[in-house]
Amino acid sequence: MAGATVVHLDVMDGHFVPNITIGPPVVKAIRRHVPAEVPLDVHLMIENPDQYIPAFAEAGASWISVHQEACVHLHRVLEHIQSRGVKAGVVINPATPVATLTDVLDMVDFVLVMSVNPGFGGQKFIPHSLRKIRDLAELRSRRHLGFRIEVDGGIALDTIVEVVRAGAEILVAGNAVFGRGDSGQNVHQLLQAARAALLEKA
Ligand code: ZN
Repeated sequence: MAGATVVHLDVMDGHFVPNITIGPPVVKAIRRHVPAEVPLDVHLMIENPDQYIPAFAEAGASWISVHQEACVHLHRVLEHIQSRGVKAGVVINPATPVATLTDVLDMVDFVLVMSVNPGFGGQKFIPHSLRKIRDLAELRSRRHLGFRIEVDGGIALDTIVEVVRAGAEILVAGNAVFGRGDSGQNVHQLLQAARAALLEKA
């Protein structure tokens, strides 16, 4: 784990996003290999996510996030996740404004800002995501809410400082960790940069 505290799993169905990855059986197998105290953060990039929530909850997901763009009945889907004892997150794509979340911010456990278009690893960070992170952090403090802010896509040594400064506290890194070099060393460097940014902010 090398200092990382959450395992983030990208579930793709070939419909909502062009790529296909894993489903509940693989999540279940991963759960068996990850220490019990480490949360499994399951990011559903699929159509009709509501239908699959029981299967992912049973597979051992600790957190489940669904896309705002994939849910006609977003409030109900988030309640469904929480009713299974799982933390519920809502995700917005780069083209989806923060304003679309106004009415669910008081119930979600976390908000995931996509800083690339979902579907593939190794993409470049989209800079306007920073404003969205800032807006969410500001809304949270203004409305005295408790959701956490997660960012997914293009997190690397050259973007992590700005992302943390903007107010994100859960950072998903794939390529920057596993792309090249030693993954343990990469995590260490990323966390060091994030902590330095946090200290500076405080
Ligand atoms: Zn993800």
